[in-house]
Amino acid sequence: MTLLVRAGLLFTGTQEIENGWLLSRDGIIAEVGSGPHPPADEVVDEPNCVAMPGLVNAHDHMYQWATRGYVPDGTLFQWLRALYPVWARIDADTVRAAARAAMARLLLCGCTLSTDHHYVFPHGRPGIFEALVETASELGLRFHPCRGSMSLGESKGGLPPDSVVEDEDAILAHTEEMIGRYHDPKPASMCRVVVAPCSPFSVTPELMRDSAALARKHDVRLHTHLAETLDEERFCIERFGRRPLELMEDLGWTGDDVWYAHGIHLNDAEVGRIAEDKTGIAHCPSSNMRLGAGVCRVEDLVRAGARVGLGVDGSASNEDANIAMEAHQAILLARVRNASPHALDARSAWRLATQGGADCLGRVDCGTLEPGMCADIACFRIDDLAHAGIKDPVAGLALAPPSRAQTVVVNGRVVVREGRLLTADEDEIAREIAATSARLAG
Ligand SMILES: [Zn+2]
Repeated sequence: MTLLVRAGLLFTGTQEIENGWLLSRDGIIAEVGSGPHPPADEVVDEPNCVAMPGLVNAHDHMYQWATRGYVPDGTLFQWLRALYPVWARIDADTVRAAARAAMARLLLCGCTLSTDHHYVFPHGRPGIFEALVETASELGLRFHPCRGSMSLGESKGGLPPDSVVEDEDAILAHTEEMIGRYHDPKPASMCRVVVAPCSPFSVTPELMRDSAALARKHDVRLHTHLAETLDEERFCIERFGRRPLELMEDLGWTGDDVWYAHGIHLNDAEVGRIAEDKTGIAHCPSSNMRLGAGVCRVEDLVRAGARVGLGVDGSASNEDANIAMEAHQAILLARVRNASPHALDARSAWRLATQGGADCLGRVDCGTLEPGMCADIACFRIDDLAHAGIKDPVAGLALAPPSRAQTVVVNGRVVVREGRLLTADEDEIAREIAATSARLAG
């Protein structure tokens, strides 16, 4: 099965080719060129679009699509304390409806590869992780689900109520079961499982250590939240006598198989160590601004050589899932932080949104449009009212982020065409998440 994608401008991640085309064969890019093109079974012709590598979402909590708009003005800890009791009521049906909404929105905005950090598993509600994996397969998204966890409840000095934490042996056993059932390490894999205790204030150091050992036993990746707020930093210093990164270093949680969400409150030495150890950072600018968490030192991290990707974070602290918007926010926020328009340019921001995220997720076969890479492609219109006539469309699309993609290809399969999802009914998903959100609100 071959697919040919032609575009007014093909931005491969390294080259910008006018009237470029690429040929995908069985989901893998076979050829890239311009001018005369080879024949193909299916042709997508987008003369009024920029085609670029599919965007990568390096941090999310998809179940939160069912709890958008809560605590619009709280800090992270205030927001979490208010939401934990609502989240304690979720089940597999809630998670499926939320994941369908989150994944539909991601795909419609040009995201082709996403992780999901799911860490709420209320007692006696089976099938939650399965619902996530099945939904990604239904909608056609390349997916890296994290089996997250919380084990440090309020009664033991943690932040979450005891009703949403799990027994540590059960967490490890279920995580291993999910790796065995769903993790596919092969090239062009559509599903890879990640081990992901939630944060230093919601799991014990023992679970962090045991999770790292489990992940390394199965050669899967590790993910957690780190250095998101000063409240977290105070918690770590008071409880463990260590700054968040020092704690994780002690627990064996650094290296090229680890990526953290946020990485905001890092000092100069820590930025250097993150880069040296090849630990990844998923920068989530909208969520960080929404919660007033602080400003990630994204330019310092990039300059130091760190792996940096972008994430939408859960939609309870973003209310949307548009990676192009995160690229836009990353540019503006970096420039505010440095009081300089040179802090982060558009092409660097697109690199974070594509190759940077793929790097965090350990995908050497995603993130650019070159022969041998997965055929994951996003095409954005530059003839619509928002972009018509815009100079330098690659920069223009980052400065004026598109609210949806025109065509999206995942694994050589067209999943969005003319801005409409082909794999599910968008309006039905919207009705379903409205009903689910109302039910959960009680
Ligand atoms: Zn998060």
